[in-house]
Amino acid sequence: MSADLRADAPNGRGGLVGQPLGGETVVAERIRRLADMTWNDVEACLGESDGLVVPIGTCEQHGLHLPLSTDTLIAEAFADRIAGATGVPIAPTLSYGVNLPCDRYVPGTAGLSFDGMRESLRNLITDWTRQGFRRFFVVTAHGCATDGYGFAHHEAIKQAALPLLTERVCDVFVLFPYWEEIGDLLTDQSGVEHAGEVETSLALHLFPEMVRTDLIRDAANGEEEERYRAFPEGVATGPPPAGWNGAEGHPSAASAETGERIFERCLTAMVRFVAERGGGRNS
Ligand SMILES: [Zn+2]
Repeated sequence: MSADLRADAPNGRGGLVGQPLGGETVVAERIRRLADMTWNDVEACLGESDGLVVPIGTCEQHGLHLPLSTDTLIAEAFADRIAGATGVPIAPTLSYGVNLPCDRYVPGTAGLSFDGMRESLRNLITDWTRQGFRRFFVVTAHGCATDGYGFAHHEAIKQAALPLLTERVCDVFVLFPYWEEIGDLLTDQSGVEHAGEVETSLALHLFPEMVRTDLIRDAANGEEEERYRAFPEGVATGPPPAGWNGAEGHPSAASAETGERIFERCLTAMVRFVAERGGGRNS
């Protein structure tokens, strides 16, 4: 949780993970949602595009002020705009991810094991490849970086794709908005931290009605932080210590304006990444 989410950025394995590039956002068009189509509609859609945007969220605590769906809502906002701008259809969201060990004891938080995520995503992608989908753009705004656990959420997604890539069945790209440099947009953090300035700013921009601004509390620091450190960094075996609020960083520095700037910059990079790989066109 306290680890730097940028520390394990894309590892450069060919075709598996793509780092977004800078560029201009394409004008948004109609969003083609798999969930709203009949199978016949999807068949027609496949004639135009073999790509699919797949949003993955979490059901995970995000401090006292943000909903458990924070990662899901942020991923869906990016995924919708990517789909609209590129014409790539969008799949129903997988609303659960691999959670931070310490969050698993916080009421409401629930997720998939590493193996559960790997198998779930592989099952879905395998089915879609049977029908002709060949390029998958997985959009997730959850990092899950914590000491001793690495990038478990992302690693499970990569491993889901690995045999499909090896057998050249399809391409799978992971789009993680915070690979984009955003430190210059922040007032009190260098990058994303759990429920901190970045996520709170995005929430204020994207779903302000769900932000409990009266309950925003910065993460503990100094002596207080020492008392809580063992909880998020260790393998939690019970509920969090009294006074721990679940947020990292400085959510009090967040604003909707900052959220809009972060969103547009990260979106631009991801749209360009998808467009460069054919977008909605079959190739
Ligand atoms: Zn989050």
